[in-house]
Amino acid sequence: MSYRFDTRAIHAGQADDPSTGAVTTPIYQTSTFRQTEPGVNNGFCYARTGHPTRAALEENLAALEGARHGLAFASGMAAIHTVLSLLSRGDHVISTRDLYGGAWRIFTKVFARFGIEFTFVDTTSPANIDAAIRPETKLLWLETPSNPLLHVTDIAKCSAIARANRITTVVDNTFATPVLQQPLALGADLVLHSTTKYINGHSDVLGGAVVTNDQGLYDELKFLQNAIGAVPGPQDCFLVLRGIKTLGLRMERHCSNAELVARWLLAHDLVRRVYYPGLVDEPGHAIARRQMARFGAIVSFELDTTLEETRAFTRRPHLWTLAESLGSVKSLFCHPATMTHASVEPEVRRNVGISDSLIRLSVGLEDVRDLIDDLEQAFARTVRRDAAAGEERVA
Ligand SMILES: *Cc1c(COP(=O)(O)O)cnc(C)c1O
Repeated sequence: MSYRFDTRAIHAGQADDPSTGAVTTPIYQTSTFRQTEPGVNNGFCYARTGHPTRAALEENLAALEGARHGLAFASGMAAIHTVLSLLSRGDHVISTRDLYGGAWRIFTKVFARFGIEFTFVDTTSPANIDAAIRPETKLLWLETPSNPLLHVTDIAKCSAIARANRITTVVDNTFATPVLQQPLALGADLVLHSTTKYINGHSDVLGGAVVTNDQGLYDELKFLQNAIGAVPGPQDCFLVLRGIKTLGLRMERHCSNAELVARWLLAHDLVRRVYYPGLVDEPGHAIARRQMARFGAIVSFELDTTLEETRAFTRRPHLWTLAESLGSVKSLFCHPATMTHASVEPEVRRNVGISDSLIRLSVGLEDVRDLIDDLEQAFARTVRRDAAAGEERVA
């Protein structure tokens, strides 16, 4: 019997506890498990290798993406580290160029030191991938919609190119969540999540996940998960499972609120450009319509003002919290140039299109009228570039 998404979210991996009848998967707060004789146990021997609360989460994560196998990690970065550990010295990776700043950092500052090479291309044109392929290319890394510019990459087209060249495709599906986009069905080999974001959804836990249908990749990753050891504790697994139960419901409201905020921004004269795949004039809109159920709840925009005024603007919202991260019930916003993408060199940022006046919103689940009112009052006190230019700055 194959259940639909919201049913799987609540049931997959979470049968009532066989020993007590508890209807919620217990937090088994233990690091090791009794063996009846050496090597004979109830399926668990040591918590880094496997753990019942984590096993419930892993089965659930796989079910959300319609996958056979799931692996849970201590953070999204721990998941990324483990996937990159599939590679060896001399291997080459092609990646989306405007990607999560932490992914860019571990690629260029950590794994590059171990002799792995990275080429960053604009994956919104699949031809750029074709052109970057070398004999030693092993991995294609896609992030769509991308962070922070919400560029949309055609997963089916790109993974077909990769497959034809025996390259493994990884999709970081953190922004879309499995509610809106299921990359395995589009041809990807691995799907990666920072469960810190929408999947947990409440800004109270760090976590990561990788899911796959490929038995060989799963076996290698399971080995690496145990060998590296960046696994989540039972309490964190419990919290993520709890968050997942409302993932479908939350995403509906997240998307509805974001669509209204994006449209409001578009009409405001202090806003030079809005980035949201749901807007019909966005270059990625047609692909987003095909491969996503809705358009997500991250909205970025450029203020038509100076860097100084942009920084002043960030002090003005009362309801929106200035913070890194995204995907929470609570609305957050950030200034990518000095926050999430500060570790990316300024000229790389400029090439990618992350301007100094870019603001990224993570639209939460508050009443959207209050969210818009709060932006309105913050905008009302912000001075446009043309007005700010000649004059003395208003304090
Ligand atoms: C946050 C994030 C990560 C990293 O996840 P952590 O849980 O913070 O380690 C990776 N990819 C994307 C798209 C993210 O937003």
